[in-house]
Amino acid sequence: MMGGGDVERLIQLLSRLPGLGPRSARRAALTLLRAPQTRLIPLAQAMEQAAHSVRTCSVCGTLDSSDPCSICADPSRDHSLICVVETVGDLWALERSRLHPGTYQVLGGVLSALSGIGPEDLNTASLLARVSSGEVREVILALGATVEGASTAHWLQEKLAAHDVAITRVGHGVPIGGALDVLDDGTLAAALSARRPAQ
Ligand SMILES: [Zn+2]
Repeated sequence: MMGGGDVERLIQLLSRLPGLGPRSARRAALTLLRAPQTRLIPLAQAMEQAAHSVRTCSVCGTLDSSDPCSICADPSRDHSLICVVETVGDLWALERSRLHPGTYQVLGGVLSALSGIGPEDLNTASLLARVSSGEVREVILALGATVEGASTAHWLQEKLAAHDVAITRVGHGVPIGGALDVLDDGTLAAALSARRPAQ
């Protein structure tokens, strides 16, 4: 036990964050507690604010403090072009690169028998609704080149086949290892520009 229950609890919660084991959690806790005014309190306030305001966009599935999100609500985006990604992290990666002028659909996962993720677990209803509305001309499947990513892309393609919409996949000559958010901008740009009709 270090510093009593509150400190211990803070360390425990921090250690559950990705990339932070118990040792880094203790260092982070110490950094926060040593500078309450400049670090601990602003962080606590930002977390509380986020907990109250951040929600899932009912159109695309990303996280934002407004619904529809700032991307879906932006009239300068190309709403006829939808890029389908697995996670919000993938969307953030594409947004950082400023390569995609359209909107997104965040599936929230990929089909995986191993992890028990089936079609009903993926956020696709709003995608089908958008495509059915007739205002979408192209759906870009930017899923990882894993077995699960490929089978999810194939499954989506079949679901969308009945609609008058072009379906493309990001270039497979580039090493997408399953997570777009670890790619550098150059590789992302290559993946997007090398997209080709899905088949
Ligand atoms: Zn949205």
